[in-house]
Amino acid sequence: MRFDSFAIVDWSGGTDRGPRPVKDAIWLGLVRGGREEAPVYLRNRQTAEAALVALIEEERAAGRRLFLGFDFPFGYPAGFAEALVGTPDPLALWAWLEARIEDAPKGNNRFDLAGEINLRFGGKGPFWGNGLKREIPGLARRTADLESPFAARRACEERAKGTFTCWQLAGAGAVGSQVLMGLPVLQRLRQRFGARAWPFEPLTGDVALVEVWPSLIADRVKALAGPGEISDRAQVRLLARALSRLAPEDLGAMLDVEAPEEGWIFGLGQEARLRAAAGGLQPPPLRNDCFALPPGVTWTPVDAALAHLRDNLAPVVGETRLPLAEACGRILAAQVQALRSNPPQPNAAVDGYGFAGGIAAGDTLDLPLAEGRAAAGVPFDGAVPPGYALRILTGASLPAGVDTIALQEDVATDGHRIALRGPLKHGANTRKAGEDVTAGDVLLEAGRRLTPADLALLAATGQGDLPVRRRLRVGVLSTGDEVSDPGAAARPGLIYDANRPMLLALIRRWGFEAVDLGIAPDERGALRRHLDRGAREADVLLTSGGASAGDEDHMSALLRAEGGLQLWRIAVKPGRPLALGLWQGVPVFGLPGNPVAAMVCTLIFARPALERLAGGHWCAPEGFLVPAAFEKSKKPGRREYLRARLRDGQAEVFRSEGSGRISGLSWAEGLVELGDGAAEVRRGDPVRFLPFASFGM
Ligand code: AMP
Ligand code: MG
Repeated sequence: MRFDSFAIVDWSGGTDRGPRPVKDAIWLGLVRGGREEAPVYLRNRQTAEAALVALIEEERAAGRRLFLGFDFPFGYPAGFAEALVGTPDPLALWAWLEARIEDAPKGNNRFDLAGEINLRFGGKGPFWGNGLKREIPGLARRTADLESPFAARRACEERAKGTFTCWQLAGAGAVGSQVLMGLPVLQRLRQRFGARAWPFEPLTGDVALVEVWPSLIADRVKALAGPGEISDRAQVRLLARALSRLAPEDLGAMLDVEAPEEGWIFGLGQEARLRAAAGGLQPPPLRNDCFALPPGVTWTPVDAALAHLRDNLAPVVGETRLPLAEACGRILAAQVQALRSNPPQPNAAVDGYGFAGGIAAGDTLDLPLAEGRAAAGVPFDGAVPPGYALRILTGASLPAGVDTIALQEDVATDGHRIALRGPLKHGANTRKAGEDVTAGDVLLEAGRRLTPADLALLAATGQGDLPVRRRLRVGVLSTGDEVSDPGAAARPGLIYDANRPMLLALIRRWGFEAVDLGIAPDERGALRRHLDRGAREADVLLTSGGASAGDEDHMSALLRAEGGLQLWRIAVKPGRPLALGLWQGVPVFGLPGNPVAAMVCTLIFARPALERLAGGHWCAPEGFLVPAAFEKSKKPGRREYLRARLRDGQAEVFRSEGSGRISGLSWAEGLVELGDGAAEVRRGDPVRFLPFASFGM
C-alpha cells in the first residue's frame, strides 16, 4: 500500500484555544511527497476543517495519495450504532452525528446531544462527564451514577494500555468529546472528497481517513521532541515522519485488519516497527575491535591511522530537533530539502518601472503609468493592462502583465507616463521564481555542521526547525601524581595541569560538550573510578598522560586489563604511543602527557574522530604551500609537525622542537607538516602550512 503524503491530526474536543500555539489545541503534522513540514497549529475545529480541506485539495492537485490520521476512535463499542441508528454500520452513525452536532469556536452542543442519547437508553449512560456548570438531563457528572448498556471499551482499547473510554466527555484525557466533535468533520470530508474511512471501507481513492494513536510511539516522542516543544506538536510531527518512513509492505500490513464496527487503532501490535521508523534511536555501540590495527605493523603511518579511524568510527549520539535559530554549529542528523523555492515568486531585482516585453536597440518606449505600485510584501492588486507600465520596487512580486523592469535611473517620468530608450532585454532586472533554489532540492546532507549562511538558506526555503544530532559529550581527564590543578599551592615535584584547560577549551570551541573529569593519580583504583564516572557522563573520553608502556603508565595498563587496549605506535613526531580502547563501551583516546604532543595528537587524530562520533563528516585540515623561513634536515620514516607561523608569507618555526615547550604552542599560529620521507628543507623551499584556523580553532 503506497501513500505519498502523511498528515496526522491531534484533535481536540474543546473550544477555541487562541492564536498563540498551546497544548491541547489541534495540531497538524505533515510529510508531503517525502518532505517533512513544520507542524501547523490550529486554534479551533473550524480553522482545522478549513486547513484539511485545503490540504486535500492541494494533495489531489499535485496527484499525491494522502494518508490522513486522526487520534480519536472512529467507532463505538459493539452494539451502539445498531441501537442508536438501527444499523451496525459505523458510517451511518457518522452521518447521524453530522446531522445533529452544532459547532462554533466558542460553544457547541455536545453535552446536550450526549444527554439526549442517554435518555433513549434510560438516562444513566453510556455517556458521562458533564463539563458545563448547568445540569444536563440524562448526563451524569461521575461514573458512580453510570448504568450503561454498552461495553466501556472497544476490543482494540483492551489491548492498548492507557487509552480512555470514548464515553467520557469531560475531565483530563477525555476522548469522548473528541469523537463527538470529530466524526462530523470526517463525515463531511467523506462527502466532499470521497475520502475512505479505515477500516470500514476499502482504501481505494486518493484520501484515506485512519484512526491513529500517537502514544504508540511515546518513547520516541520523548527522545526526539525539541527542547520546550509542545508535546502534541512533537507527536504529530514524529508520527507523520514514522508513517512516511514505513516500508510500503509494513504500512500495508498495519492497514490489513478485520473491519469490526468498532474500528481499530492503526499500528496496534506493531509498535516496534512504528517506533523504529520514527528514528532517533540511540545508534548501536561501537564495535569492540574498532581500534584494532592489522597485525604485524610496528609503526603505523599517519595516513593509515587516520584511514582506520575514518572507516571504523560511527556516530554514537542520537538525534533531536532544534529551532532553526538555535541550530548554528550543530550537526544535521538528516538530509534537508527545500520546502519552498527561492525566490518563491518572480520579483523585481531593482527599483524602477515594470511592463511587458523588452525594447530593441534604438527604439523608444512611451507608456502611461497604471494606478498604484508594487512593493516588497505589498503586491500590486490585479493585472497591469497591456500598454501600461507600473511603478515597482526591489523585492516586489511581479504582477500579471509585467515581465521586464527598467531601472528608474534610465527612465524619464512626469508621474503619469514614462519614457525610455532601448535596448532593454525581455525579462531584464527580474528574478525568476526558483532561480536560486527549487522546492524539493536537496540543500544539505546529514553530517553537515550548520553555518550562519546555512541558516539563511534554510530559513529562506521554509524550514522552521531542524533535525540535529545531540551534542557529543567529551570527557577530559588528566593523569599523573605530579599533576595538580592550576593555582594550587606549589610544592617540589608538582607541575600544573596544562593539558586539561587546553583540551576542554578545544572541545568547547569545536562545538562539543566538555565534561571536566579532573585529575587522576597514578593509582589503578582511583583511575578506574575516574573512568567509570567518565563512561557515565560522557560519550567519549580524552585522557592525557600514562599512555605509554612504562611502569607508571597506568592508563595503558588499565585499558589493557579491562578496556581492550590498542597501543598505536604512529610514525609521527611529536607523539608517543596513542592508547586507544573502550571503557564500558565508551571510546577512550589516551593522549601523551607532554602538552605539545597532546595538542598535536588531538588536532591530527582526535578532532576528526570526535567529529565522526558526533555524527559529522570526517574532517581534514586544509593546508597550503609557503616558502620556508627555516632550514631543517629530516630523517625518513615518520611525519613531523613543527610549531609554526606565517610572517611575510613565509613559514617560521619555533626555535626548539622539545615537546615540553608549551611556550612554542602559544607562540605558534599553525603547524608545518613535513611528509613521511626524508627531507632537506632549505630557506625558500615550499613547505605545507596548516593554520590553526583549519583545525577549527
Ligand atoms: P606521561 O605521558 O605520563 O609519561 O607524561 C609525559 C610528560 O608530560 C611528563 O613530564 C608529565 O609530567 C607531563 N604531563 C603529563 N600530564 C600533564 C599535564 N596534564 N599537564 C602538563 N604536563 C603533563
Ligand atoms: Mg605520568
